[in-house]
Amino acid sequence: MKAAVYHGMRGISLDEVPDPVIAASTDAIVDIEYAAVCGSDLWTYRGQGAKAPTRIGHEFVGTVREVGSAVRSVKPGDWVIVPFRFSDGVCRFCRRGWETACLNGGFWGRESVDAGQGQAATVPYADGTLVKALPDGSRPDEKSIPSLLTLADVFTTGYHAAVQAGVGPGDVVTVVGDGAVGLCAIMACRLLGATRVINAGSTHEDRNRMAREFGADVVVSSRGADAVGEIRGLTGGSGPDRVLECVGSPQSFSTVLAMCAKGGTVSYVGIPHGVTVEMGPLFSRDVTITGGMSPAHHYLASLVPDVLDGTIEPGRVFTATYPLEEISRAYADMDARRVIKPLIRVA
Ligand SMILES: [Zn+2]
Repeated sequence: MKAAVYHGMRGISLDEVPDPVIAASTDAIVDIEYAAVCGSDLWTYRGQGAKAPTRIGHEFVGTVREVGSAVRSVKPGDWVIVPFRFSDGVCRFCRRGWETACLNGGFWGRESVDAGQGQAATVPYADGTLVKALPDGSRPDEKSIPSLLTLADVFTTGYHAAVQAGVGPGDVVTVVGDGAVGLCAIMACRLLGATRVINAGSTHEDRNRMAREFGADVVVSSRGADAVGEIRGLTGGSGPDRVLECVGSPQSFSTVLAMCAKGGTVSYVGIPHGVTVEMGPLFSRDVTITGGMSPAHHYLASLVPDVLDGTIEPGRVFTATYPLEEISRAYADMDARRVIKPLIRVA
């Protein structure tokens, strides 16, 4: 079968790889229908992260082909969403809803585990990992599938930023970032009842227009100290009480920490790269820092119905669709910021 393989900086190709097999009784094999390219794949693509060669991709949906003898929750033919980490569903962390900390869990594409940008994958701990979109396992309507795919990672990551920040009805929230996670965080704030969302966005007007479509009331295109001043001005001079960081760069962190109001909360979901934080000033301003890696599996049960009934349509983050054969072009276009997020049609 074919799958995307990372071969070193800016090298992605569609290679012949071994067919998936049921190695453990808790495994399932999923035939992948759609996959996505994540901002974190882009860090890898740019040479920061994974060792080469390695299979890549961790956002995917598809149909169960085969299950091991111990699998109970899914059967061949079921249409499933695959969260960006696998998890056993039974350890003390999974039972608390922190599947990202699962004692037996892990990332796709690491060691001998398959990855998501390919024709199929073996899924470990199928009962703890896979989520059917519909209770009977049937395939949802075509229109909702891109949005359901975003629940594997990108939307649930933006949602996690908002949940961890405690966003609720009546809140004014600032979201920093102009990528797909930032857009999803804006939409998540609206879903959770925020009354006003300010986006520290982009110098690109098309991205800022997307931010407004996703629910931002105001989009500020300045960066750094200028953004801090502008957003303080929009929040009565004292700064926002809840700030969602959706980038992960040192500049973005220094911006969110500088703008946050006294007693406020910074919630970060951008994977930090080269970021160090001086705690002293945050202590004296009573700023809470939270966030981290989203337990996507935990959020799926409540968010799938919101997609299916049309309450949210986060699949609009996909601004271009590529066949699997053009996976290399999808990465190049995302790297050059020609697309916000590529959708990969596999089958
Ligand atoms: Zn677990």
